[in-house]
Amino acid sequence: MIARSGATGRVGTVYLVGAGPGDPGLLTLRAAELLGRADAVVYDRLIHPDVLRRARRGARLIFAGKEGGGEQVPQSEILELLVAQARLGRQVVRLKGGDPFVFGRGGEEALGLAAAGIPFEVVPGVSSGFAAPSAAAIPVTHRGLSSSVTFATAQLATGEPDWAHLARAGTLVLFMGVHRLEPSTRALIGAGMNAACPAAVVEAGTWEHQRVVEATLGEIGARAREAAIGSPALLVVGEVVALRSALAPLQQRPDAAAPRASRGSAR
Ligand code: SAH
Repeated sequence: MIARSGATGRVGTVYLVGAGPGDPGLLTLRAAELLGRADAVVYDRLIHPDVLRRARRGARLIFAGKEGGGEQVPQSEILELLVAQARLGRQVVRLKGGDPFVFGRGGEEALGLAAAGIPFEVVPGVSSGFAAPSAAAIPVTHRGLSSSVTFATAQLATGEPDWAHLARAGTLVLFMGVHRLEPSTRALIGAGMNAACPAAVVEAGTWEHQRVVEATLGEIGARAREAAIGSPALLVVGEVVALRSALAPLQQRPDAAAPRASRGSAR
């Protein structure tokens, strides 16, 4: 199918851009360049305001609030919006948290663009699956402790994850809505994972207000609830989490020059 074009006579390109996990310093150079010349930026909820400030002056900023409660713009409407903007001849940056193809429905958007005949480019981003554990001083692999890492989500379109499979992971990084934390830890233990295994929940990894709660798998749900951990958050389970106690006290945060008051076990 030939895409119709707008006043310019040319159809625009849609850039599916990963905005990284939060900290604007983790934006890629390619993402910054595209933001600086975008005609329209269609962005999700978990994008740092300093990233949005990189958009070209005069660019249309369109919020496509998705994920984590609140109002959701249906995926079909987001796709229609991207297609319509591109057909007006605009260069469109579709800005998504982390990496666009890691649990972000970026694949669905790319398929929709391809079906509509809209040219697109995918710009990888730093996924929170890597960045949140790193920023919490947890190496996701470590010689002698874990030689594999599994990224999984507790939020499937249908049914439950394969808990028995996940319970055998070397290091498990579970993307999830916070309300899924306790049922997920129970399911992992039910599927054979050791309740004494070290675990951590990283809230808002790499953001200024990052918090980390650490406990055993058996206790992490209750501890996170007590700490009122909110979205976005990841669960990390595995022996590697125990390295944190040695690494975290020495790890500098990017904003270490301006230290903040720590809250509880958070840092
Ligand atoms: N594409 C994104 C993930 C989108 S799914 C990426 O690659 O990071 C959204 C889920 O990601 C959230 O529910 C949460 O589990 C996780 N998440 C996103 N940003 C996060 C952050 N800064 N810290 C911790 N978890 C985060």
